[in-house]
Amino acid sequence: MISVSEAKKIVLENTDLLGTHIIPLYDATGLVIAEDVFATIDVPSFNQSAMDGYGLRFEDLNENKSLSIVGEIPAGVFPPHQLLPNSAIRIFTGSQIPEGCDTVVIQEKVTVNSNQLYINDEHLKKGLNIRLKGSQTAKGGLALKAGTIIRPGASGFLAGLGFDKVKVFNVPKVCIINTGKELIKPGQSLVPGKVYESNSYSLNAALSELNIEPQNIICIDDDEQGITDSIKSNLSKCDILLISGGVSVGDYDFVAKALNNSGARCLFHKVKQKPGKPLYFGKVNSTLIFGLPGNPAATLTCYYEYVVPSIMKMMGFDVDSTIKIFLPLETPFVKKAGLTFFIKGKIEGNGVTPLNAQESYQMSSFAFADCIIQLDEDRMDFRQGDLVEVHLLKK
Ligand code: AMP
Ligand code: MG
Repeated sequence: MISVSEAKKIVLENTDLLGTHIIPLYDATGLVIAEDVFATIDVPSFNQSAMDGYGLRFEDLNENKSLSIVGEIPAGVFPPHQLLPNSAIRIFTGSQIPEGCDTVVIQEKVTVNSNQLYINDEHLKKGLNIRLKGSQTAKGGLALKAGTIIRPGASGFLAGLGFDKVKVFNVPKVCIINTGKELIKPGQSLVPGKVYESNSYSLNAALSELNIEPQNIICIDDDEQGITDSIKSNLSKCDILLISGGVSVGDYDFVAKALNNSGARCLFHKVKQKPGKPLYFGKVNSTLIFGLPGNPAATLTCYYEYVVPSIMKMMGFDVDSTIKIFLPLETPFVKKAGLTFFIKGKIEGNGVTPLNAQESYQMSSFAFADCIIQLDEDRMDFRQGDLVEVHLLKK
């Protein structure tokens, strides 16, 4: 059985960056830019007023008590004339500065009388309140590097440069197969011996946090042939195949055999961890297969710990920069040695609290956990105040 760190390494070593595609910027939120973006214009593309006020020539102020107001330039209008000496022009935030004008005085610092402008601004300096052409971004310059995540700021920035499309890394195609004769779908009446199928719900919700809609979600009995057939028919549809349940060593656990029948190369099966010890990872061509132990908390924990980093790498994210922090434990925790523990936790105050209901069948704590605490394989006693590794569940 391999350790968690070995298993995670194998997953990432076997994960490749996906291809790229060009999409509307409106649809690109949360994706990663696949190539350096260079500005094709200056921004601002003209000298622009930063305030509502009056444009003038600074040097005129030495000789004049007042300037004649010769017109106005609303935002969006190209100024038809240059500003002649000893005159001023009404101007607004975003208006293009006319030729000759070099300074804007704000309207709160002036008096207007008979079309004459009197300035009461002892702090006025040449160039004040003008945003110069190219002062944010120069034409031809590197605007955003490949690898940048398109968060709202990046989206607005790119739109401001005139881009309505962007090249991003692809989002992986994912199929989900749930195995278990005992499973029935929520919404139906419960019958003796059956349990509600919940893993597809937690996985679907977790995938949607990464903008991924599964290609297919199916439920199948514990039947070797049936599982083999469904693996074969879904493999070609996806970059990642998630199978939940049936991956352990019980008489009705057929997933490993079915994967073998389907030509999968097993890269590991079983990890020194709790929950999720029977975790399987394999590959057919470039499709990655995760056999997630069926207990609901084990399925979701393994998804967060192994599948998310793999998806992040496929989509071009910097895997190391995501979701890992160290916090002091708020309450002690005792575990057995020899297994890494993943504990559902909640960040409170300056530290992290392990929640109740940590068994792998218990989702009640996962429902409001905001992190997973990773406790080292070798250690048993964790005291209050000990620094522990915390994986945030929010994106
Ligand atoms: P298995 O991994 O197939 O041995 O299943 C372990 C436990 O998880 C059993 O109690 C199953 O009933 C339960 N289980 C498996 N798959 C699901 C699922 N999709 N939804 C809810 N519980 C499941
Ligand atoms: Mg089962």
